[in-house]
Amino acid sequence: MVVPIVKYPDLILRRKALPVEKLSEDIFKLVDNMVETMLKTDGVGLAANQVGSLHRVFVLNTTPHEDTPTLIPVINPEIITHEGQLIEDEGCLSLPELYIKIARPEKIRIKSKNLYNENFVLDASGLLARAVQHEIDHLNGILIIDYVAEEEREKVKEYLNGLIHAS
Ligand SMILES: [Zn+2]
Repeated sequence: MVVPIVKYPDLILRRKALPVEKLSEDIFKLVDNMVETMLKTDGVGLAANQVGSLHRVFVLNTTPHEDTPTLIPVINPEIITHEGQLIEDEGCLSLPELYIKIARPEKIRIKSKNLYNENFVLDASGLLARAVQHEIDHLNGILIIDYVAEEEREKVKEYLNGLIHAS
């Protein structure tokens, strides 16, 4: 089921998601909904907070530009190593139409659980590494507006003021 995406300034985006202790129907359903919602919005990743849940779960589409999406559910992720640095524009489905330049490690390795309760390691670089870090940030209550550099501060302030006046 496609579900609505929670938008800033909803406070659930600022809460820390809690580790999944046990896989259950609820988690399977959550992952299904997140995958459908991510595909519908052409997102590369989506975190549980963004659909109103506080489980440490996010989903990734590792082939966003191909006809057949490759979907990876990530449960209780942890970054093991990171390498290099890349500055790129980054957006967020919870802050539509805002793009901020963010410096992040270029390559990362994470460990996590899959839907069969097995551990797996994922190596990511480029866009995918960025998406993974972005989604892990969501699970920790961190948003792209927390990274704003001096030269973009005014732009972000105007954007956020616009949100307050629109609501
Ligand atoms: Zn986001």
